[in-house]
Amino acid sequence: MYNFINSGHKFPVTHRDKFFWKPTVKGVIHNSILDLIGNTPLVKLNKIPKANNLECEIYAKCEFLNPGGSIKDRTALALLKDAEQGGNVTDKTIFVEPTSGNTGIGVAFEAALMDNKSIIITGEKSSNEKVSTMRLLGAEVIQTNKSTIEIAHKIHDKDLQNVVILNQFENDANPRVHYETTGEEILNAMGEINMVVMGTGTGGTLSGVGHKIKERYPNCHIIVAEPDGSIIFNVHGKKHPYLVEGIGGSKAPIVLDKSVANGYEVVTDEESFLMARELCQKEGLLCGGSSGAAMAAAIKAAKRLKLGLGKRIVVILTDGIRNYMTKFVCNQWMEAHLFLDPPEHTMSWWKDP
Ligand code: PMP
Repeated sequence: MYNFINSGHKFPVTHRDKFFWKPTVKGVIHNSILDLIGNTPLVKLNKIPKANNLECEIYAKCEFLNPGGSIKDRTALALLKDAEQGGNVTDKTIFVEPTSGNTGIGVAFEAALMDNKSIIITGEKSSNEKVSTMRLLGAEVIQTNKSTIEIAHKIHDKDLQNVVILNQFENDANPRVHYETTGEEILNAMGEINMVVMGTGTGGTLSGVGHKIKERYPNCHIIVAEPDGSIIFNVHGKKHPYLVEGIGGSKAPIVLDKSVANGYEVVTDEESFLMARELCQKEGLLCGGSSGAAMAAAIKAAKRLKLGLGKRIVVILTDGIRNYMTKFVCNQWMEAHLFLDPPEHTMSWWKDP
């Protein structure tokens, strides 16, 4: 049997030597899964920059490795702590939150640990995978094409005493957690950086990370991935529906500080999903569609800004493929949306005897 522990190879020597991985063996115990929220790794991309003729270094902030599967675990925990500190939380408290799904997963799993009930209101676009995950975690999920925020307020009006709306779109605890943790982690790990790229939904990540990075590196470019069809940054663009989840929209939320962004790149659904698949296939980063959008935007911006040798870029990969198993992860879904050509022959090497 191959001796994995003492392979003796230095990592990485050649492309192939990476597979002679020498693990660092550690044993770690945590008292709660909540301890594993945040402190996500930054991973260097080894193939995609080269394939796009870029000499700069690109690092992925792997937020999909959070326990609930996304960066929004941080937000959910910050919102719950904020509510707790407000002094209104009891065993009977019902947490209510409008969300594109990932905050809902965070709230549902964290509320379940606190033995509190949660009601999540999400749009019809949210994937079945997200909805099923929230239901599994004990949340009551309302999927609607109406205003999720209005429904949250109606639920609140019915039970003023027990219902707490966490309100990620307005609550300062959302950007603050990214200022104090996500942004700080990037600075600690990276030292000087020249560009950070991300998608924005509530804008919590952008506002928090953006301000933290700018304080240390005022010349660092903060770039937003704007889905084609969104008019939050691309204000003169054409508003239309798009398939990428969790980012963009038509009205800027209160916690979104647009002024911290230096610019934006418009990214189509096709570019986003193909790039998310490439991140999985070429780099082993099993991320979602908005992460693909951020990566595609990073490549466009790096070329536009001519970021060459020695420049360092961080791209935030917000959630993982689990949320999209029946969507862009599935070849037939990609083919049905004309993002992939159907295969000419399946199993072309196989000849029936
Ligand atoms: N990507 C995905 C998949 C998301 O769910 C969200 C949150 N809506 C974002 C990106 C954007 O994060 P934020 O709300 O901090 O702007």
